[in-house]
Amino acid sequence: MQDIRWNAFWLGLTLTIICLITWASSSATTALLVFSAGVLIYLISHLFWLHQLNRWLKKPVLNQIPNGAGVWEDIFASLYQEHRRHSRNQTQLSSALGRFRHAASALPDGVVVLNVANEIEWCNPPAEVQLGLDLKQDENQPINYLVRHADFVHYLQEQDYSEPIKLRSWRNPEVTLEIQLILFGTKQKLLICRDVTQLEKIETMRRDFIANVSHELRTPLTVVGGFIETLLDMEGAVPESTRSYFNMMQDQTTRMRRLIEDLLTLSHIESNAQAPEDTEIEMSGLMNMLLNDANALSQGKHKISAESDQQLDLIGAMEELQSALSNLVSNAIRYTPNGGEIHITWAMRNNQAVFSVRDNGIGIEQQHIDRLTERFYRVDRGRSRETGGTGLGLSIVKHILTRHQAKLEITSGLGVGSTFSAVFPKARIVQK
Ligand code: ADP
Repeated sequence: MQDIRWNAFWLGLTLTIICLITWASSSATTALLVFSAGVLIYLISHLFWLHQLNRWLKKPVLNQIPNGAGVWEDIFASLYQEHRRHSRNQTQLSSALGRFRHAASALPDGVVVLNVANEIEWCNPPAEVQLGLDLKQDENQPINYLVRHADFVHYLQEQDYSEPIKLRSWRNPEVTLEIQLILFGTKQKLLICRDVTQLEKIETMRRDFIANVSHELRTPLTVVGGFIETLLDMEGAVPESTRSYFNMMQDQTTRMRRLIEDLLTLSHIESNAQAPEDTEIEMSGLMNMLLNDANALSQGKHKISAESDQQLDLIGAMEELQSALSNLVSNAIRYTPNGGEIHITWAMRNNQAVFSVRDNGIGIEQQHIDRLTERFYRVDRGRSRETGGTGLGLSIVKHILTRHQAKLEITSGLGVGSTFSAVFPKARIVQK
C-alpha cells in the first residue's frame, strides 16, 4: 500500500514538474494540455490493467496471472503469492483429508461422518458391511432412512450421546452392534459402530456361570446353615467350649447366604434387560413400609424421620424399587453410628421426582464416590462385613434405577454424613 501511494505521489510530482517547465518555456494552455494528456494516459493505463485483472479473475489460473506494470506489478505479485498460498493450503488440506480417510478405512470399527441434517457425508468399509450402507449410492442420504432400527432412530433424536447403545443387527440377528454418536465441529456427528457379538457371548457366559455357581451353592449352604442352627438350639449337642466356634460358623454361613442371594439378584437383573411390568406404586404406602423397616433395623439406635409428597406416585416395578430404596435406607443405618439421624424424603425437584436418604453418619471421601456402585467396592471392608454387607447393594440399586431410567446421585463428606438420592424422570411420575 505504501508503494502504491509513493508511486502515485512520484507520478503526480513528475507530471506537475513537466507542466511547470512547459508553462515556463511555452504557454499555460500548452501546459494544461500536457497535464490533461498525462492524466488521460494514467487513467487509460489503469483501466487497461483493471480489465486484465477482471479477465484473469474470471478464470484464475495461477501461471496465467498478468505481470502488470508500475503499481499493478505489485498488485499482481501480491495476488500471485496469495493465490499460491491458498492452493498450497488446499493441497495440504485435501492430502490430510485423504490420509484421514485412509486411516479411518483401515479401522476395524465402522465410522460414518454425518452432517448437521444427519445425512451421510462419508463412511468406511466396515460401516458399509455392519450397517448395510453403500457410500456410492447412499452419500447425502439421511442415516435414519437407511438404519431404520427403532432404538437407533430414538437414540439419534434424543441427542444424549453420552452412552453407546446396543442393537441386534437387522441384517443378521446373530450379530450385536454397539453404536455411539459423537458430536464434533458445528453439530456434525461421528457414528462409531462396533461388532460386540463375541464380547456379548463372553459376558453372557460369565453371567450364566455366576448364576449357576450361586444356584448350586445355595442348597448345600442352606443345609449346613440349618444343621448348625439345629445343633446350636439342641440342648447339650454343642459343648460350651466349642459353642463360640459354632456361632462363628453360623455367622459365616449367614454371610455366604446373603452374598449368594445378592449375586443371584444381580445376575437376574443383568440377564433380563427389561424390568418387570410397570405398575402405579402408591408411594405413601411404600414410604411407611420403608420407615417401619428402618426402625426395626435400627432398634431405636437412630433418630429416623420421613417426609413425603402425598400427591406424588411413581410408575415402576414395585418389588425391584422397594428392594433398591430399602437398600439405601439400610445403608444409611449401617453406616451411621448410634444416636445419628436419618431423614428420608420423597418430593418433586425440577420436574423430577426424588427419593433421598440423608444421614449424618461416617460419610465417604470424595475419591470413593464414583466407584461405590462397582461390584464388591467397599470403602471399609471391615465395617461392611461387621454390618452384614456384601458389597453388592449399591450395584443392585444402580441396575434397578437404570432399568427405570432413573439416576443415583451421591453427595457425601467424611465425618459429616451422606445423601443418596434416586432421581426419577418426569415420564415415571404420577401427580394425583
Ligand atoms: P455394602 O454391602 O458393603 O454396604 P454397598 O454396595 O451397599 O455394599 O455399599 C458400598 C460401599 O459404599 C459400602 O461398603 C460403604 O463403604 C459405602 N456406603 C454405602 N452407603 C453409605 C452411607 N450411607 N454412608 C457411608 N458409606 C456408605
